[in-house]
Amino acid sequence: MTTPTPDWAARFSQRMTRVRASEIRELLKLLDQPDILSFAGGIPDPGLFPADQIQAAYDAILADPDQSRAALQYSVSEGYLPLRRWIAQRMALDGVECDEHNIILTAGSQQALDLLGKLFLTRGDTVMVARPTYLGALQAFNAYEPAYLDLPANALRAGVDTEALMAGREPHPLGYFVPDFANPTGESLTLAEREALLDLAAELDMTLIEDAAYRELRFDGEPLPTLLALDIARSGSIEEARTLFCGTFSKTISPALRIGWVCGPKAVIEKLVLLKQGCDLHVSTINQMALHATVSQGYEQHLGALRTAYGAKAATTLSALERHMPAGVTWTKPEGGMFVWLWLPEGMDGKLLLERSLAEERVAFVPGEPFFAEVPTANAIRLSYSLPTDAEIEDGVTRLAGLIARS
Ligand code: PMP
Repeated sequence: MTTPTPDWAARFSQRMTRVRASEIRELLKLLDQPDILSFAGGIPDPGLFPADQIQAAYDAILADPDQSRAALQYSVSEGYLPLRRWIAQRMALDGVECDEHNIILTAGSQQALDLLGKLFLTRGDTVMVARPTYLGALQAFNAYEPAYLDLPANALRAGVDTEALMAGREPHPLGYFVPDFANPTGESLTLAEREALLDLAAELDMTLIEDAAYRELRFDGEPLPTLLALDIARSGSIEEARTLFCGTFSKTISPALRIGWVCGPKAVIEKLVLLKQGCDLHVSTINQMALHATVSQGYEQHLGALRTAYGAKAATTLSALERHMPAGVTWTKPEGGMFVWLWLPEGMDGKLLLERSLAEERVAFVPGEPFFAEVPTANAIRLSYSLPTDAEIEDGVTRLAGLIARS
């Protein structure tokens, strides 16, 4: 007897209505062709991966029978203790007094966002984000069916009418922010904006997620305190804080190891451990051990090399934009990270510009629109300078500027 093919769409859970493929990602899949000059991929320069150190770390672990048995075995859901201790010590150097019980290791910070969504969001809860914000965070949260509230860029400077903002919404929202060198804008929150965000969080009884994915990649200016450090300075201890800090080794060591972490109050970390257990038990044991061995030697020096390299590429990009972009285009001036955000003249559509740019100039970038949670905005694009060489940046920006000028 033949049975009809299941009607999958009717069987998928309610939450799947919010889980959709991104048009942009589909478009960018076409970018593997070698003649495309790409500012699209927001990924680290593979020439900067510490491959020799990583290889030495794996070799040493696998050559030692005791280490090798542990490395190839299951391990605890909170993560490899020496690595959690190492992270706790580094967090303390960055103004966050904590210990290993305040740390859980996750499969990149992307998993941290998913687990935090699972922990905090009931359908219809509000997630407050920047306008624009990291697309991957929206994708992670979407499965938990939140209502977004996106703050305009100047809201923290200008002050917020909280009553109007929260009218008709569930109380105590979840806030998600990338204070340092944000994806997609490359911009950072000033100290005053960080303080204003914490004031707002206190007023709304808001839980804050601080995504610090690019924090270690500062190449200009002075470091600013993390939201978690400022929160602890106000509340007295990490156990009283309302901020969950998400870190990652993806931008500094390698994204393929899939290792990130959450640092926050034990009461929250304990729940994340339970969720992590149900999800994938733990981060790969051998990857955690190899990463710990890698960062235990010469990490600062390695970070210095990354900062110099990305700083030089950013400078090349900003100089090329200055010399070639037509009037009416403005852009951010990142002090770290991998991104520059361009505002196109009013009425110009970043998605249409990408289609033309691919066809006429063979230059790729990411249109701004998918980074807006609530208020769609078309006249922006994101350039990432992490992968192209200086010559490619100069060539690509020249071609893009020419296309914009004649659009
Ligand atoms: N947060 C931000 C702001 C990012 O740009 C990225 C990577 N694109 C991530 C989190 C996730 O990175 P990972 O899971 O590799 O740590």
